[in-house]
Amino acid sequence: MSNAAETCVFCRIVAGAIPATIVGENADAIAFRDLAPQAPVHLLVVPRAHTPSLATATDAAALAGVLSLVREVAAAHGVAEAGYRVVTNVGADGGQTVPHLHFHVLGGRALHWPPG
Ligand code: 5GP
Ligand code: ZN
Repeated sequence: MSNAAETCVFCRIVAGAIPATIVGENADAIAFRDLAPQAPVHLLVVPRAHTPSLATATDAAALAGVLSLVREVAAAHGVAEAGYRVVTNVGADGGQTVPHLHFHVLGGRALHWPPG
C-alpha cells in the first residue's frame, strides 16, 4: 500500500478498511454517504486512485468515470428531476478538508446561492 492509501481517510474507505455507506461504484470511483449531511441527499463520489484534488487530477478517463457515477447516484437517489448540486472544494480557500479528490452531490431541498 502507498502512504496515501494507509493514511488517507477516503483511500481507507475505498479499500474497505473503514466503514461507509456505499451507494454506488464503477471501475473508476465509489460513492458513499457523507458523514455530516448538509442536505437530505448528500453523497460523496471519489476516484479509487488517490489524488489530492481536482488541481492534481490528470487522468481524464478516470475523471469521466467519476462524473458518470455522480450522475448515476443522483438519479438513483431521486434528485435528477428536481435538480441537485455537484461541488468539489479545492484547497484551503475552497474549504477542502479531506485531501482526496471528491465531488459532493447535494439535493433533496432547494439550495442557496451563492454559497458562503
Ligand atoms: P471537503 O470539506 O473536503 O470538501 O469535504 C469533506 C467531506 O467529507 C465533509 O463533508 C465530511 O463530512 C466528509 N467526511 C469526512 N470524513 C468522513 C468519513 O470518514 N466518512 C464519510 N462518510 N464522510 C466523511
Ligand atoms: Zn486518498
